[in-house]
Amino acid sequence: MSSEPRRATKIIATVGPASLTEDKLLKLMEAGVDMFRFNFAHGTREEHAQRIGLVKQLAERAGKPVGTLADISGPKIRLGKIPEDTFELKEGETVTFASPGAAEPGLPVQLKDFDQYIQPGDSIYIADGTRRLTATACRSGIVTATVDVGGPVVSFKGINLPFLRKPLPAVCDKDMADIECAIDAGIDWIGLSFVGGAEDVEPVRELMQKKGARRRVLAKLERRQALDHLDEIVVAFDGVMVARGDLGIEVEFEKVPFIQEQILKAARSRGKPVIVATQILLSMIHNPRPTRAEVTDIAHAVTSGADALMLSEETAIGEFAPEAVNTIARVAVVAESMNPPELQQLHSVHKEETALAHTAAVLAKNLGASVILCPTRSGNAARGVARFRPQQPIVVVSDQNEVVGGLTLYRGVYPVHAELTDNLDARVKMALQLATRLGYAGPGDRVVIVGGVPAGSGRTNLLLTHTIPGN
Ligand code: PGA
Ligand code: MN
Repeated sequence: MSSEPRRATKIIATVGPASLTEDKLLKLMEAGVDMFRFNFAHGTREEHAQRIGLVKQLAERAGKPVGTLADISGPKIRLGKIPEDTFELKEGETVTFASPGAAEPGLPVQLKDFDQYIQPGDSIYIADGTRRLTATACRSGIVTATVDVGGPVVSFKGINLPFLRKPLPAVCDKDMADIECAIDAGIDWIGLSFVGGAEDVEPVRELMQKKGARRRVLAKLERRQALDHLDEIVVAFDGVMVARGDLGIEVEFEKVPFIQEQILKAARSRGKPVIVATQILLSMIHNPRPTRAEVTDIAHAVTSGADALMLSEETAIGEFAPEAVNTIARVAVVAESMNPPELQQLHSVHKEETALAHTAAVLAKNLGASVILCPTRSGNAARGVARFRPQQPIVVVSDQNEVVGGLTLYRGVYPVHAELTDNLDARVKMALQLATRLGYAGPGDRVVIVGGVPAGSGRTNLLLTHTIPGN
């Protein structure tokens, strides 16, 4: 077993110019990355497909399971191409925005009928909320606004409308093509930006069904509207992200800490994994050490039960990318040991699977087991157990690549890729040997085994205990 203390909270790192070579990706993996994120808002599909392939290859070579997440840009409103590439917004002046095909010229916006999403008096934010305007008039494709907080803006900068007067078109053609590309490249998770409601997942599920691919879909929660449908979204998607960047523009930033808690609670109560993202270690883009405020924020997210923390610019363009990953790792290990999560209660029983998974977690506690072992093709048993937050590591042995990759996101779950036989005895024996070899169990240790029969059925209906001989 590695001498470093085991960390249950997972780390996601965004791939970008600062992490694009084999050497840099390997350094990030060594520092503790569990999953890489590919941001489809930038770069071409070909580049992303090639990078996803590279990460998979490196992970296989290193013998370390590493997951992949395709971040799909979704209905983010953006400025269009500004002729001189930059435009100065002067405080107090009036500016005209023009949708594609509008009758009058103006600052280009990449959204048809921009005027229909706004009413006079509404705020318009540009460039991560750093510029603010107030709409004064809206007519076919044209919005005029006065500048409250000015400064230069450049082509394609993001626009936020906290009061969206009409739902934005959900996943567009570019998004669907991006998703298809990611699936073909072997992606484990697909993240949808600016999710507005539970129905946003449907076109993605339909596409996967058509392709015969089963990948997990994550809702990025970054819009006011999404919070009104939080529970339905948590149920419909496989996981959620607290996307604090856009969230802190669309909603007053002082509310973000409480919305984070609210989302964590909603996701945890449904057993869905939750990622806390954005500005986790922003200062480390240029500094080798974190601010104390950042360290406190990380510890807080871990203590509140996040499954994973995500780095964006820190690893995409940062000067200290491995150090940033290592910082999360260090802070998480201490936070987990200082404030370990309690074994969650089973409040009401809906499903046999859930009850059995809970029993496995209780049994592991009562026996003082060293590991909970899930030799499972689908990974369902592991997901079921993980939601109760047992103290023991949940080691999953699966022969499905996307199951292994997908499980890298879950707190306390350690997936391993290996061939599985359909014979139950042989399967359990092999999983026990693997767990021993990887240092999760030693002589005299008790092991709780959770799985399902028949093999490959996706069911969780089997609970066994075993004591490793010796001592
Ligand atoms: P983004 O999403 O980095 O794709 O904008 C995360 C966020 O808004 O926090
Ligand atoms: Mn965002």
